[in-house]
Amino acid sequence: MNSMKLRPHHALCAQFFVGKGYSDQFVAHMYAVLKELDRGAAVTLVDGCDAICAGCPNACEGVCETDEKVRSIDRRAIEAMGLSFGNTLPWQDLSALAKEKIIAAGTLGDVCRDCEWIGICGSSADR
Ligand code: SF4
Ligand code: SF4
Repeated sequence: MNSMKLRPHHALCAQFFVGKGYSDQFVAHMYAVLKELDRGAAVTLVDGCDAICAGCPNACEGVCETDEKVRSIDRRAIEAMGLSFGNTLPWQDLSALAKEKIIAAGTLGDVCRDCEWIGICGSSADR
């Protein structure tokens, strides 16, 4: 099965994306990725740069500039969703797990702690 590489915490970012990002190019790239996911793409969870990072100005030679911080968020997210790196599943299933196990469970603030965007995502999650 063809699948899109996705790092676990991006299953959360995708829920809250409102057109803000690191650059105009990144925002356009993010919309394109979200469109593909909404079409029903399968995703494989990766421990490193993914389809979203591919359009990010912070992805230096395939490694995130804030690698340590985002890997910690990835680890907390994948554990909360009960999944493992290398798992492949339909985007709809991953999205449902992110919503149920983290957002509805009220643990977004803990999983995403240290992320600069938590003010935006956290207030959407509380609505
Ligand atoms: S707080 Fe950061 S890591 Fe969490 S969903 Fe928002 S942008 Fe993604
Ligand atoms: S900040 Fe890092 S983890 Fe987030 S999209 Fe950019 S390269 Fe990927």
